[in-house]
Amino acid sequence: MGKKWMIATITILFTLLTIGVDTVSAQGKFSDVPNGSWGHSEIHYLKDKGIVNGKGNGLFGPNDKLTRAQAATIIVNAIGKGTMKINQNSSTYPDVRTNFWAYSSIERATQLGIFQGGQNGLFHPNDYISRAQMATIIARTFKLTGGSVSRFSDVGNQFWNTADIAALEMNGIVELGDRFRPNEYGSRAEFTTYLARALEPQFRVSNDGTVLFKGTVNVATTLNVRSAPNTNSSIIGTLVKGETVDVYGMDGEWLRIKYNGNAGYVHQSYIKQVKEPIKSPTPPTPIEKVIAQGKVTSATLNVRRGPSVNTEKIGQLSEGTIVEIYTYENDWAKIKYNGEFAYVSKNYLTSSAGSNSLKDLKIVVDPGHGGKDPGTAGNGLHEKDITLGVSLELERLLKDAGAKPMMTRRDDQFIELNDRAKFANDAQADLFISIHVNSSTATSANGTETWWNSTHASKESEALAKSINHRLVQELGMTDRGGKAGNFLVIRATKMTGVLVELGFLTNSNDAQKMKAADYNQKVAKSILKGIEDYYHL
Ligand SMILES: [Zn+2]
Repeated sequence: MGKKWMIATITILFTLLTIGVDTVSAQGKFSDVPNGSWGHSEIHYLKDKGIVNGKGNGLFGPNDKLTRAQAATIIVNAIGKGTMKINQNSSTYPDVRTNFWAYSSIERATQLGIFQGGQNGLFHPNDYISRAQMATIIARTFKLTGGSVSRFSDVGNQFWNTADIAALEMNGIVELGDRFRPNEYGSRAEFTTYLARALEPQFRVSNDGTVLFKGTVNVATTLNVRSAPNTNSSIIGTLVKGETVDVYGMDGEWLRIKYNGNAGYVHQSYIKQVKEPIKSPTPPTPIEKVIAQGKVTSATLNVRRGPSVNTEKIGQLSEGTIVEIYTYENDWAKIKYNGEFAYVSKNYLTSSAGSNSLKDLKIVVDPGHGGKDPGTAGNGLHEKDITLGVSLELERLLKDAGAKPMMTRRDDQFIELNDRAKFANDAQADLFISIHVNSSTATSANGTETWWNSTHASKESEALAKSINHRLVQELGMTDRGGKAGNFLVIRATKMTGVLVELGFLTNSNDAQKMKAADYNQKVAKSILKGIEDYYHL
């Protein structure tokens, strides 16, 4: 075979192989998207319309990740190629050649403003898309709007595409739940299902379960319904006096309602609440805080969209650049880049953790028991005294570390468990740390254990419990009883990352001896502080 022919053949083969990922399967249903599975109707609806195809052999690959090229192709399949001319000789992106299988879809999606390249002008066609990116693609394609506040606990007001995720919530494209998992990769099933719901209102989910309250229109004549929470936005309809509306959320002084199935806004002063709240409004997500500063130690450091080398590179930092770090995810530091959250490898940052390591973190310290409730007793010790002594020392160390400690009690007074949790929730604290001391009828029982609860911030609480327990065991030479799941009220009812530490057994002579040492409070408080710093990877 001549060289030219060989290249041509390889190109055709490559094209066929790549397209093969999305070949039309035989008539019928995908065997890996069975009846009753999530997205079953939506996926088969788009299959029947020829918008998505299977992998061959009757399989859809619902849990497979989706590349940017695949997403662009599916979107263009859904909305049509249109009449815009695509230059067949010159690509917008250096990394998408004109003979690439998804070339024309990528060009079309770019013309429509649905996709854009990274800072270096590359498209990265084979990068996988995150769930957040998925939301932006769907919102842009269908011009979905509706709110600037997401009800998912992991989509804060400062997240780079909160408005797009909120639009999907408001328009019934995504089911509401605790978390949206914006930085995780999206799956083929998720993308296809959301797309079908955007295309076809019959598939939209009713998020009625999260109606905050019902209201009646309280105006002289008519009330304008607007497309966004301000008077500059367009009027999408009117309501008359006495009409009932379901209120789904609030943006400042504006209430989010549904109008003819779409998101709309009315000013709160014209809506009279007719029922007790079905569910109390979600408190605004606290603004993310800087936990440390870092200095770039390599000649250049890539800035990426997500915490993975597989995510889009959106820029580069040069050696010596100082960045503010918001959190760590495995080996990645979350920073802000051009006003958006982004990630860099933490291995090329020196951390400035130290005197200000826990800057501005609100940490509730909860000395167990108090007043009429002494807690447990033994070997001449009372739990309520030990917990207070340790907690006051911890308060001091946290202040030195730049944190904002908040105490549920600072003296010998009784406080209900519910009030302790409410105190932390009302303060929207970042961490909740309850201090206790154990006892047992078996005087041999000894050691330190730290409890976490799975109701809220489960993963985070487990990690914090383990790091604090580890430090206490290490620094005080305690028996390691572990960080474990438990159901104590204060850690179940607090909504933030929280733990309950059982420092040791005052019924055990060895543990009690340590508790009587003059430097006990200081040692324990230092260990807990180190455990917190470990948790934040400082
Ligand atoms: Zn206790």
